[in-house]
Amino acid sequence: MNRFMKKTAAAVMSAAMLATGTAAPDALMNRNASLFDAFSITASARSDKYTEDTLVLAANASAYSSGSSAQTWYSPNRRYVLTLTILGNLRLYDTAASRVIWQSNTGVATNYSTHTFRLTMQNDGKLVLSDTPRLSPKSYEIWDTKSSTGAGSNSISLRLSNEGELYVYHHDRRQSLWSSRSQIECTAADNSYLRSSQCLTSPDFNYRAIMQCDGNFVVYNRKDGKDIPVWDTKSADQGGAFLAMQQDGNLVLYNGKTVLWASNTSKKPYEAYILSLGNDGALRVIRKSNQAEVWNSKVEKFTWPVPGHGTISSGYGERWFNNQYQFHTGIDISDGSIAGQPVVASKSGVLRVQNTVCSHDNGTLCSCGGGYGKWVIIEHSDGTTTRYAHLRTIKTNLNGQRVNQGDQIGTVGSTGQSTGPHLHFEIRNAQGNHVNPLNYVHA
Ligand SMILES: [Zn+2]
Ligand SMILES: [Zn+2]
Repeated sequence: MNRFMKKTAAAVMSAAMLATGTAAPDALMNRNASLFDAFSITASARSDKYTEDTLVLAANASAYSSGSSAQTWYSPNRRYVLTLTILGNLRLYDTAASRVIWQSNTGVATNYSTHTFRLTMQNDGKLVLSDTPRLSPKSYEIWDTKSSTGAGSNSISLRLSNEGELYVYHHDRRQSLWSSRSQIECTAADNSYLRSSQCLTSPDFNYRAIMQCDGNFVVYNRKDGKDIPVWDTKSADQGGAFLAMQQDGNLVLYNGKTVLWASNTSKKPYEAYILSLGNDGALRVIRKSNQAEVWNSKVEKFTWPVPGHGTISSGYGERWFNNQYQFHTGIDISDGSIAGQPVVASKSGVLRVQNTVCSHDNGTLCSCGGGYGKWVIIEHSDGTTTRYAHLRTIKTNLNGQRVNQGDQIGTVGSTGQSTGPHLHFEIRNAQGNHVNPLNYVHA
């Protein structure tokens, strides 16, 4: 059925015998006298349900593919084959399903006889695929797992499990740094699919996203041996569904007749996009060319901007102020001990400092920053913005930077048109209109 199968049958047999032995994987790793020896089948103990015998390429080992033969390695159960092809593509093949389940999408050579491709497991934790053209003095990196820990270690290996998962494993940390199943990738010419019961796992194995038989696509967090759902497409009871990572960057759940769910992130022109599941449990659609994030499943809610201080001294809406009616476009948060307290980002986004110059504390008639005194805006990825006014101090070094929800951005003050220390907090919708923050946040 598969031409690689017969060729290495003897190697697999002897390795399978080894797998039943008691040799520790680390002992085998250090034993690699020859290049081929670096790939060993060992019985590896893993503490989770993925425990399997694995193929191991140890830190600082490399494998070559050149000329007329491709390098191949098998999972211990022989179902999955990893091939470094003579054209420079690293490819994982499921022999039972007769299909490619993952590949590096490199394959740079048209004439293999003039190239040598090298797969290197660096001891900083990065797996690198490089190309050395026959007449060139230099090697070129053509793909890598971006999993460098920055430090050298001998306890890192590349493994291929009986479930068809290729991963870079850090033994000391007992953590996977990269996994072929943490992402699916489409090229500009093809869409890629996740069908029923296929799943993505985060590199650290704490999250997995599975295309369920009931038509629901669900991200689970694995805690104490239990799978706790943390996000889903709310499309259960729709059998026969599959999830497509489209070449236009749109992630679509389709059952052959109807679109059950979509990320609505279609872009043109067509390009290669990646769907990945991170260690934070978030699914992301990433444009391959510049690694830009197009969509993220972790939709945050707004949170209270002054932790521990929940008193509202003036609400949203019309009020009598400075001897006239005016519309108060946000809420004022104030109490006797709020002066100088941390103000935090209500939601992740990009910080834009608006005004840093106002020396008028309690400057009832001061017009600095349009009356807001020292103030900032945070622009959120969904088009909404939040405003934080009358600040005493601002973390000006964060101007133009991405801040995460809960990050401190300044302290409560009384700059601008203000009668005492308070935070004036506003939420504006994607159309730029102010809305009542109390519809979104609570102390
Ligand atoms: Zn002022
Ligand atoms: Zn106010």
